[in-house]
Amino acid sequence: MLRLWALGLLLLTPLAAGPREVVNALLADPSVRKALDFIQANEPAMIEQQIALTELPAPPFAEQARGLAYKKLFEERGLRDVRIDEAGNVIGERPGRFAGPRVAFTAHLDTVFPAETEVKVRREGTMLHAPGIGDDGRGLAVVLAVIEALGHAGIETDGPITFVGTVGEEGLGDLRGVKHLFETELAGKIDRFVSVDGTRYGITDAGVGSYRYRVTFSGPGGHSYGSFGMTNPIHAMGRLIAKIADFEVPAEPKTTFSVGRVGGGTSVNSIAYEAWFEVDMRSPDKDSLETVHGKFQSAARAALAEEKARWADRGGLAMDLERVGFRPAGANPAGSAVVEAAVEATRALGLEADLRAGSTDANVGMAAGVPSITIGGGGSGEGAHSPGESFDTTDSWKGSQRALLVALALASRLE
Ligand SMILES: [Zn+2]
Repeated sequence: MLRLWALGLLLLTPLAAGPREVVNALLADPSVRKALDFIQANEPAMIEQQIALTELPAPPFAEQARGLAYKKLFEERGLRDVRIDEAGNVIGERPGRFAGPRVAFTAHLDTVFPAETEVKVRREGTMLHAPGIGDDGRGLAVVLAVIEALGHAGIETDGPITFVGTVGEEGLGDLRGVKHLFETELAGKIDRFVSVDGTRYGITDAGVGSYRYRVTFSGPGGHSYGSFGMTNPIHAMGRLIAKIADFEVPAEPKTTFSVGRVGGGTSVNSIAYEAWFEVDMRSPDKDSLETVHGKFQSAARAALAEEKARWADRGGLAMDLERVGFRPAGANPAGSAVVEAAVEATRALGLEADLRAGSTDANVGMAAGVPSITIGGGGSGEGAHSPGESFDTTDSWKGSQRALLVALALASRLE
């Protein structure tokens, strides 16, 4: 089917162009130069914005305060139809000359830190210290810098850009904001997806998928001596962890498993009534991820059966497999123009283009078959996800410039 935007391009602009031509054409365009210069001059104000957003706590599942502030920032910068969807994503539109390609240009609102975390930013020369200052205070600021630069230079892109602050990117948030975007009002309407996440200049072009489970074994429990001879939830858990520890997985595509937390029991002289653990399995390859997931499911059934059989099921034993996370694995097609455009934009600014696999909002786009990347927001960061996180602002404007070029290239007749 000939898409509407393709029709518009055929009528109104010459041939579509490859990534390098598109980026070169952008760099030769005076209005783009104006926007790039503005970004550099405007960086101190954007750093202030990054600090202000970081100081608004946005714990997992409680991003509302930061979301409301972000909505206001979208409105002040002239985006249209600014709204907050049912998931809590903040969405604003910047129309293009044509109906497409439509680019979603995003950063995540949430942090990994609980509500009581001190988020006041401490500044020392070029260094900023605060939990969340880079991940993703930086991405949120870069998205605003792109919107401001487009407005300042009066640039009209070919396709529209939908700017989004997403919720639930981190941990048990499980990409719920971006999943919601791709399932509801924007389903089938996004042609290209970009997330600006964290610092430096990397380009994530493959999505590491994951399954995460919390496994609980439970029984009546009892005295270690007096009740001896009954099923033991901790022993059952031990059986399952031992099986997981022996899983064979491919080195390429890198597929992994890890039991990250364990708990249970009440005292050394008791048969526990409950034991639990959390396991994480990952792969950038869908089939390898499903294979390790299948091994886990059968190992769990076997461990339960073995512990029951050991004691003729005296006492009884129950097992609960609670899935606490699923991130789809995904990749861009080889030679993807979107990935190449990001590489060209990065090199054009004299930066190194480092491609990698990661677990980010872009996973969901890739899994939906939409060309999707995650790019770093520039500067350099240390200690993401730790209370000691820091961000070095030295030359960080290059991150915003790169983001602008990526946004412009993707909203153009790139192919
Ligand atoms: Zn992040």
